[in-house]
Amino acid sequence: RTVTLQTRVPFNRRMLSSAEALSNMKRSGLLKECGIINGEERTSATTFEVFNPASQAIIARVPDLNLADLDEAIAGSETAFAQLRRTTGFERAAMLQKWNELMLKHSEELATIITLENGKPIAEARGEVAYAASFLSWFAGEAPRVYGDVLAPSNALNRALAIKQPVGVVGMITPWNFPAAMITRKVAAALAAGCTSVVKPDASTPLTAIALAKLALEAGVPSGALNVVPVSRDGAAEVGKKLSIDRRVRKLSFTGSTAVGKLLMQQSASSLKKLSLELGGNAPFIVFDDVPDVAAAAAAAAVSKFRSSGQTCVCANRIFVQSSIYDEFVERLTDIAQGFTVGEGFAEGITHGPLIDERALAKVERHVADAAALGGEILVGGTRTAIDIGPNFYQPTVISGATSAMAIAGEETFGPVAGIFKFEDEDEVVREANSVDAGLASYVMSRDVSRVFRVAERLDFGMVGVNTGLISDCAVPFGGVKDSGFGREGSKFGIDEYLSVKAITFGGV
Ligand code: NAD
Repeated sequence: RTVTLQTRVPFNRRMLSSAEALSNMKRSGLLKECGIINGEERTSATTFEVFNPASQAIIARVPDLNLADLDEAIAGSETAFAQLRRTTGFERAAMLQKWNELMLKHSEELATIITLENGKPIAEARGEVAYAASFLSWFAGEAPRVYGDVLAPSNALNRALAIKQPVGVVGMITPWNFPAAMITRKVAAALAAGCTSVVKPDASTPLTAIALAKLALEAGVPSGALNVVPVSRDGAAEVGKKLSIDRRVRKLSFTGSTAVGKLLMQQSASSLKKLSLELGGNAPFIVFDDVPDVAAAAAAAAVSKFRSSGQTCVCANRIFVQSSIYDEFVERLTDIAQGFTVGEGFAEGITHGPLIDERALAKVERHVADAAALGGEILVGGTRTAIDIGPNFYQPTVISGATSAMAIAGEETFGPVAGIFKFEDEDEVVREANSVDAGLASYVMSRDVSRVFRVAERLDFGMVGVNTGLISDCAVPFGGVKDSGFGREGSKFGIDEYLSVKAITFGGV
């Protein structure tokens, strides 16, 4: 089924106001107020509002779909699976490549939608579109490379094979912080394997998911193979429950908070479905005193900490610095944070956008107040923005003298607050780093190769960045351990999450 988009609005790179960006998008045909079920646009008399987190302006009214709509999406996905599983990896690769091309062709519009509904600066939104599209191209490469094994059974008269087959219909629940990449990282792997998907995007950012599904249809992804079911915040729990217990859904892939991940796992017990849970992090960022350049280490920490205003699951949450370079590091990071410009994502010269909503701001304020009460020194920031540019803006904040008793140590802040902890030796810092329940990303800065190996192997985390604050890459496995969940996305491992192994034994040979 081909969906033709209306004529594209020519976008140039001139900075737009949010209002201009919104009116351009409304004309472009990619900003759609509908769900996508079985290849058709689905509307509803009941809608929910999507806000620009910077201005609080209403961007769109999206249908608040219900369980009957979800049921149709699952049924459509099941029908589509019966066909998709018979296609070759080469055919699915061609589909994914075409989708990738369309994403890149429409990258400016997609970035605009992301900035409108998520708030991140437009330059970061463009980066997200490129990152999101990279999963389409990566899994296009993986689709024809699903290999099995020829086995040697213990019975001399038998021969056996292990083949890999798609698991079937996959339910996907995604968060708001990467409205494009969290969708493609799952859907591309699923489609490459031959699985079909029912996606429930976050209520704050459904518009990017809908736009991506429209482009997928235009790229030739069959009707029903990718459904998007927007629901309001209040409807998330019942949709999550149905996706967990419905036996037609053979796998659930979730990215979001640990609390919701645990609930989905409990609910899924009745249908024993395969699960991937990409949950919250609490990344340690460890800086040893042998780093060749303290300024470079502080710059890497700043990128890891403050990207997307601290709202990524791999953001540095606890920055540990060895005592002899502590003061210099603190000074460098403070200087960097002082140079940031907070503002509305389309404005010129902006480095950091708003937080997603009032709830996020309240958590940041609680963490900063707690740190100050427990003796932390706020060196920069520590408040909402001085000039009133909107309710969701918070100053990038650096706090020295952080301790393990503070909330910024035990909880994921998910905001622009850098707490800096002092440590003396390797054993102590590894113990502290591992003392939390989360186990997603971690970082080590050191030029001592032996130390890097020792520490990287001892960290109870799914990912370790060494001498870099940026680790996300379609070619590298992404995922956690402990309370950060399980399953890997991207890389050669990502497709296995959507495949099951079948043994075929031949007797009497
Ligand atoms: P959240 O768990 O509240 O929401 C995530 C998704 O779950 C949304 O679509 C939401 O509507 C849905 N949801 C909420 N309650 C539900 C329920 N009862 N049943 C089913 N679905 C439900 O998470 P959030 O706070 O919005 O997102 C931030 C969290 O996500 C952070 O903890 C962050 O670390 C994590 N995250 C993890 C990764 C990763 O890859 N590990 C990536 C991005 C974000």
